[in-house]
Amino acid sequence: MSSQIKAFFILVFLGLIAFGAYQWGKSTLVNYEEDMSVNACPVVMEDIIASAQGNVYEMGDEEESEEYVEPETYYLVIYSVNGDELANPQLSEVPTDLEDEQTNSELQKEAWEIFTTLIPPQDRVMVAQYNVFTDGESNTLAAVDQTSIDLTDWIVEVDIADLEDKHAFIFTMVHEYAHLLTLNASQSTVDAEIYADPSNVDLLTSKDSICPTYFTGGGCSMQNSYIRAFYNRFWVDVAPEWQAIDALQYEDDLTAYYDGLFNFYLKHQDQFVDDYATTHPAEDIAESFTYFVFSPKPQGDTIKEQKILFFYAYPELIELRQYILNGTCSLFD
Ligand SMILES: [Zn+2]
Repeated sequence: MSSQIKAFFILVFLGLIAFGAYQWGKSTLVNYEEDMSVNACPVVMEDIIASAQGNVYEMGDEEESEEYVEPETYYLVIYSVNGDELANPQLSEVPTDLEDEQTNSELQKEAWEIFTTLIPPQDRVMVAQYNVFTDGESNTLAAVDQTSIDLTDWIVEVDIADLEDKHAFIFTMVHEYAHLLTLNASQSTVDAEIYADPSNVDLLTSKDSICPTYFTGGGCSMQNSYIRAFYNRFWVDVAPEWQAIDALQYEDDLTAYYDGLFNFYLKHQDQFVDDYATTHPAEDIAESFTYFVFSPKPQGDTIKEQKILFFYAYPELIELRQYILNGTCSLFD
């Protein structure tokens, strides 16, 4: 063997060792990261999941006998958002008893800082507005919506009366963020006609019929979107049964709708992380994402566990989970 050929083989051999070492390093790094996330702050994580348990469709007897009165919602302050910063607070007219909450900018900023601690800046560039509202304690904790000026921009809305239960608040903020993650303009088309008339069943039906992928109810999902992959994998089989129940939400009396969803949940409990997830595929992916963040990695293979494992197929979401968990743990230090 000539010395040149010998040198070539030595080089190849060294290359293979280096490659092997790199791969080994990479795999141990991944394992280490997964272990770290599981061990981040397990008690807090458990408490956050526990805060979300409850029967959303099972109305108590008293509530059923009395007419349910929707609580009044008041917008207190509207801020514009620039990265982490809040600017131009606009105060709306509110009843006198809400003036204290309206002027408590410290508490309003505290709620905003929980959101910015949880979600990395580059993952919330779509947030352009922050609304502080209240409908009293519990009821709606938080929400997201598109801005009317630019449908690719989003509003984060927070009920300032619900900050006390920090675990439930954090669960809800991550759930709401999951809507931004799965419905923003890179994931689904924006549709001004639906935005202007979101409950127009004829309009929704016609938009659905021309959408070649999964129609989210607000737009047509992109080919590579998370929600399209999630829907195709987990929803196609149950969709006809669910759609028949979903259609009941347009009736005056919503009892049949809520009973239908609750029975649907009881029948398919192995498929949904909780009862609220049966409301809509967009709620299912948001709720499953929140369980993905705060639960240890599932070891089983039921469909609801597969829904959590679904997100582990995306390295960017594993990274996001780690960031949210680090932020969560820091909020309880
Ligand atoms: Zn939701």
